[in-house]
Formats: sequence, structure tokens, C-alpha cells
Amino acid sequence: MINVIREPLIFEISSPGKSGVRLPALDVPEKLDVLEGLTVREDLEGFPEVSETEVTRHFTRLSQMNYCVDFGFYPLGSCTMKYNPKLNEKVAGMASLAGVHPLAPEKLAQGNLELMKTLEKLLCEITGMDAVSLQPAAGAHGELTGMMLIRAYHEAQGNPRKYVLIPDSAHGTNPSSAHICGYVVKEIKSNDKGTISLEDLAREMTEEVAALMVTNPNTLGVFESDICQIADIVHAKGGFVYMDGANLNALAGITRPGDMKVDVLHLNLHKTFSTPHGGGGPGSGPVAVKKILEPYLPVPIIEEKDGQYHLNYNRPKSIGRVKSFYGQFLVMLKALAYILALGPAGLREMTEIAVLNSNYIRKSLDGIYHLKYDSPTLHECVFSDKFQKDFGVSNLDISKRLLDYGLHPPTMSFPLIVHGALMIEPTETESRRDLDLFIEAMKAIDREARENPELLRTAPHITYVRRLDEVQAARNPVLRWEKK
Ligand SMILES: *Cc1c(COP(=O)(O)O)cnc(C)c1O
Repeated sequence: MINVIREPLIFEISSPGKSGVRLPALDVPEKLDVLEGLTVREDLEGFPEVSETEVTRHFTRLSQMNYCVDFGFYPLGSCTMKYNPKLNEKVAGMASLAGVHPLAPEKLAQGNLELMKTLEKLLCEITGMDAVSLQPAAGAHGELTGMMLIRAYHEAQGNPRKYVLIPDSAHGTNPSSAHICGYVVKEIKSNDKGTISLEDLAREMTEEVAALMVTNPNTLGVFESDICQIADIVHAKGGFVYMDGANLNALAGITRPGDMKVDVLHLNLHKTFSTPHGGGGPGSGPVAVKKILEPYLPVPIIEEKDGQYHLNYNRPKSIGRVKSFYGQFLVMLKALAYILALGPAGLREMTEIAVLNSNYIRKSLDGIYHLKYDSPTLHECVFSDKFQKDFGVSNLDISKRLLDYGLHPPTMSFPLIVHGALMIEPTETESRRDLDLFIEAMKAIDREARENPELLRTAPHITYVRRLDEVQAARNPVLRWEKK
């Protein structure tokens, strides 16, 4: 229904004098003389004047034009767009926790500090690492922090080194983070299984290399089964292994990066641990390290002594602050509530179901969509449009057509090593029924590609807007309403 109504701008439904409230007549002067010229901005014209019904319907309709995880399946790969328990939002909204001023003295914030310390300890246990900083505000921010720790260590040894090795299957933020930290990125080729080539790594790993950045499972959803050998090669030349741990719902409760000889990693609390992400909302990308890097962690660190919590700023080797105050406290709270509610067995089950769901999709669509790498995957799988290309249908057409089926499209054109990629991460929160709806839609789209490719090339057909000029939309967004 909503798709056929053209929703005007709120300014276009405005008419003078309309209002959502009816106030009694003023019995005081409309403007106080003493404030003349001070409070009234005469240039502020054009506020929309609408009734309560109009404003409610307007924003409700706008909300219906979008897609959200409360509405349906969100198969975006490498994104962990999962359903998050609403209860944890409630916990984070509790006034006693949310209302604490960030500059409150330690004495008055003992409870908050204890919660943060508890989360640090749990994350150490889950990852097998020795210490955690909760400060970074996002995954990429955690990567940068991790690289800064590595750089600080090498500098303290007298040479920051020059290169960071990154596999060609890496998440795009990895090379950016290394580059911003002043390193030159060298690419490591994947082998035909989609994992790091040990020969290539051994050749590139020299004493000029500061670190290897590795995503495990990698962006193909494939576990780097040689991770310990990989770490040995890097360590032998005095380098560090940085692991991108954004995909922890493929590992948590089953195996630990710390046990894989990883030296430093970041987590995305706003993927794995109960904060929705996307839209630029608050996130949290804690960094976990082994003992050797602990002295370099951002200040302040939280210390506990005799049940009292204390913020320690006196850390001479620290890289300093990376975020105002202590990071995104409320995101930490949600993660803590989530971890405690699930417990160890629940976390393990989270991972098992995430992996099961991904393999269910991979098996169900195998043969219908092309799989460049068909080794078993963990939490995500990557198809391509190779079969549909024969009928002139691309991954973009397939994704656009999914919108007509009421589904969000998968990630496209990434990882770069799969041409025409369709990358799907179902996550553990999808039911068999929702997975089947997606699989059936993908099968139907494949049939359409053979029988009526034009239908796909012109999709979507029933959405509020049709196929947009995405380059134009990104380069010249229309953000301002002009009175006609
Ligand atoms: C999401 C993601 C990131 C980046 O996290 P942000 O919070 O978006 O900065 C990095 N690496 C991987 C593998 C990811 O999935």
C-alpha cells in the first residue's frame, strides 16, 4: 500500500495555522519587551504547520519506506545485521546507569567502573587475550588503535618498521587503518582454498614488516586453518599478528584468537554483542592484547584494588587517549547484559547456529548460484552471479529484484577476489522459516533470470523508488527543501 502513495515532504502538507496542540489563549504579552531582538529569530520562517494526525502518519509512512531488521532478514555479509534483544536496550536506558555524568568522580561511579571491568574480564576470557581497552568507538577505530599499539612497541625497540601485510580477502578497513598509522600495505595472495598462501607470506615476511593483519574467519567465511603456522612465520621475524575479530559470532565459545597466537585484535560489540549497527549509530570496538602490548594501551585503564575501582592515567608507555571519556558506555552495557544472559553455553550456541544457518544457505543454493570457493564456511558464504551472467543478469539485478520479494539484498562486489560477489551472512537470529523465504526468493530469481531477464534488469518494481542512479545520489544528494 505504502508503495503507491507518494508521500509529500512535510513542508508540502503544511498549511498556515494548523497545529497539533490547542493551547488556551495567552494571558501574558506574546513577547516580553526586555527580550525584544534577543530570542525571536525573524529569519526562521517556514516551519511546517501540521496536525498531530498528519505528523504521525508522515513519519510512520517514511519509516515504512525503509527496511529494518525488525521487519525481516538482512543477509548483508561481513556485517552481522542480526536481531538484538530489546531487553538490552532497556538495560542501557536505565536512568541509574545512563544518567551518570562522564565527569562524575570515581567515588560516585564505582558501579559503572565495575560493570566496565567485568566486561573487560569477560572479553578476555572469550578471546583468550590478557587485557582489553574498551575505548575505541568502532571496528575500524579498534583497528587503528591496535596498529598504534604495534607501532608504539616497535618504536620503543628503536624501529617502527615499514610494512603491514594484508591478505587480498581482507575487509576494506584493514588497509586503511594500517595506512593511516603510517605503514605501507603489502598484499598477500589467497590460494585456491581462499586462505592465506603460506609461501607468499613466508616470502613477504621480513624484519621490515611490523605486522600481519588477518581476518579470521576471513571475508569468504573460511577459517584460516593454518593460523598457528601463519603466526609462527610472522613471530619469527619479530612481527605481530593483528586479528580482525569483527566476526566473532563465528568463533565465540568454540575457539579463541588468543589460543591461535594472535597478539592483538578488535571486536565489534555493535555486531556480535547486542548493539544494532548501520546508520552510523554508536558502536564499540574494544581492543584486546597479549601481555607484551599491555603497557601501550590507551589511558585511562580501569584498575581494581580491594573492591575499589580506580582510573589510572599514569602510564608512561601508553599511546594516550583514543576516545573522549571512556568510550561508548551504553554499548558496553548492552554487551555485558547479552553475555551474562547467554552464559558460556549460550554463546557457544550463538556461534553454532550462526555457522549452521550459513551452511544451510550455502548448501541450499549451491549449483543454482556459483560458489568460487566451495570449502565449508563458518558464519557467511560468498556466491557470485557467474551462472546468471549468461542471461545478461548481474549481481546488482539480483539484489534489486530481492527488494520486490520484500528482502534486503546481500553485500555485493565484496570481497574483491570474487567477481560479481553476493555475500551472505544470515546470523544466528534467523529462523528456518526466514531462511527458507530467502532461499525460495533466490531460486525464483534464478528462474526469472532464465525466463525473463528484462524483469530483473529493470527491478525493483514495487518499491517506493525504483532503480536509482547511485553515483548521482552519492555525489549530489538533495538534502535541502526549496520553497517552490
Ligand atoms: C564491520 C567490520 C569492520 C569495521 O567495523 P566498523 O565498526 O564498521 O568500523 C572491520 N572488519 C570486519 C571484518 C568487519 O566485518
